[in-house]
Amino acid sequence: MDDADPHIHVDRRVSQYDARVRNLLAGTFGLVGDLPETVTTGCGLRVPYAMTSARPESVTCLTCREHGHDQHVRLAEQIEQLGAMPGAVVTGAQAGRAAEHHRDLARRFAQGG
Ligand SMILES: [Zn+2]
Repeated sequence: MDDADPHIHVDRRVSQYDARVRNLLAGTFGLVGDLPETVTTGCGLRVPYAMTSARPESVTCLTCREHGHDQHVRLAEQIEQLGAMPGAVVTGAQAGRAAEHHRDLARRFAQGG
């Protein structure tokens, strides 16, 4: 593995960085944690957290851009399903806004840098 890897990657678990989704999921599943010092990337590397970005425009690793796109599309679908569950902690409107946010990110990942 090359220590001088110049690329910016995405965290494989994309939803970790998004405070809005973290809060939604934390309320639903109790998934809360501190940000890790190193993360596994969408392309399978282990890199310092500082070498990752949640901003699509900052991600230079192509494999990670594809991964980010797929993850955000999937997250949008999951969030919409959460909002549609009876007794959900999020309202349909909240889920709709969060889903739209992820669709926007997915589009930006797909557009290229
Ligand atoms: Zn990568």
